Amino acid sequence: MTPAPPDPDALEAGRLLFAGKAEFVLGVASLSGLPPSDRTEVCFAGRSNVGKSSLINALTGRAKLARSSAEPGRTRELNYFDIGEGQLYLVDLPGFGYAKVSKTQTAAWTKLIKSYLRGRPSLRRVFLLVDARRGGFMDTDHEIMDLMDGAAVTYQIVLTKVDKVPKADVEKAAEKIAGLLKKRGAAHPVVLQTSAEKGWGIPELRAEIATLAAQG
Ligand code: GDP
Repeated sequence: MTPAPPDPDALEAGRLLFAGKAEFVLGVASLSGLPPSDRTEVCFAGRSNVGKSSLINALTGRAKLARSSAEPGRTRELNYFDIGEGQLYLVDLPGFGYAKVSKTQTAAWTKLIKSYLRGRPSLRRVFLLVDARRGGFMDTDHEIMDLMDGAAVTYQIVLTKVDKVPKADVEKAAEKIAGLLKKRGAAHPVVLQTSAEKGWGIPELRAEIATLAAQG
């Protein structure tokens, strides 16, 4: 499904939401460390190197808010960011396909993610990032989508780095993905297209998030 033309009011709400402060709040390494579920929360997930930190930084207009998976630190924690002084939690969920850790660490991390996705009442949507150059899903994407379908957590696919791929190929990838999503219970039908580098799709993604925040 191609995105509907953006609603000007939603675009403005998105602009305003992300024009405010954006601050790192805390890194959560176990369920007991989660902050109270007292506001709308959206989460960003995707394989290492998919362009997740670049996208979060583009959304918030802060060059170094989220750290790349290529940098050390914060890679085994759910990273909580406060957006617009209490309006929203944006959660960076790192670590998929991250090879440089032991099996025991990976198992503990997977367990935390599963519990988080299953039991977070204020989590309104997970944005699952897919590198446009890959043109489709990887095994880890299927794993997390299975989990979210099971937990009935709505997720939306966001293609990243679309500036690196010819427009026609991006459209083809988006159509293919949208087709696959029809068989999945908790998937949002619209596939978003973004480039953190060029700023493409960023106002639309902000608008989508602001709409969720307004719904409470
Ligand atoms: P993360 O590991 O998912 O946080 O990925 P990063 O945000 O660190 O990005 C991984 C690599 O992709 C870096 O070299 C980025 O410069 C590059 N990258 C990220 N977003 C874009 C984009 O929109 N366009 C292009 N051309 N490169 C990007």
